[in-house]
Amino acid sequence: MTSLMKKMMRMNRSEPLLTDLDSIARIAEYERQENEDFTRWLKEAGESVDATVMRLQADIAPQISCTDCGNCCRSLIIHVEPTDIPPLAQRLDLSVDDFTARYLEKGIGNDAVISQVPCHFLAGNWCTVYEDRFSACRSFPHLDVPGFSKRAFALIQQVGRCPIVFNVIKVLKSETGFR
Ligand code: SF4
Ligand code: SF4
Repeated sequence: MTSLMKKMMRMNRSEPLLTDLDSIARIAEYERQENEDFTRWLKEAGESVDATVMRLQADIAPQISCTDCGNCCRSLIIHVEPTDIPPLAQRLDLSVDDFTARYLEKGIGNDAVISQVPCHFLAGNWCTVYEDRFSACRSFPHLDVPGFSKRAFALIQQVGRCPIVFNVIKVLKSETGFR
């Protein structure tokens, strides 16, 4: 491991946030076992961590530019709610059926998901349908939703992908005394 990587892994809240996607992916891979252990620790901590996660998300998310990143749009299969479809279909001057046939498919449990990764609507790092984007896109990475510890396993899968999640989890480990 390089000295730079060691320095980044020791980062606490007083240090700059890390946003470089390659570095984040490498560190997340290196810390895979630690993050699995943290997931189990969080399950036992239960709802007591919700307030801390929400505070960290409120502090960290505004400091990270999603338009400089776009990594979730490039790498995730997006779940689509039925209510997401009409506004987007109207925006693109398509019927709901035509929109569904062109952009969606059935995922696990028969729910609708986008049929292409990266997302059809991503141009560079920009969402071309931003005002009418899917509800899952609006709420990702879901750190301001109560019940964090119950969703910790799924969320920690995003540590190596999302700079917001990476930095929140990094500081959360420090603040909870896990590390
Ligand atoms: S609809 Fe927009 S925000 Fe959602 S995944 Fe596609 S490009 Fe990203
Ligand atoms: S939510 Fe995370 S992965 Fe998605 S664009 Fe913003 S920082 Fe990047």
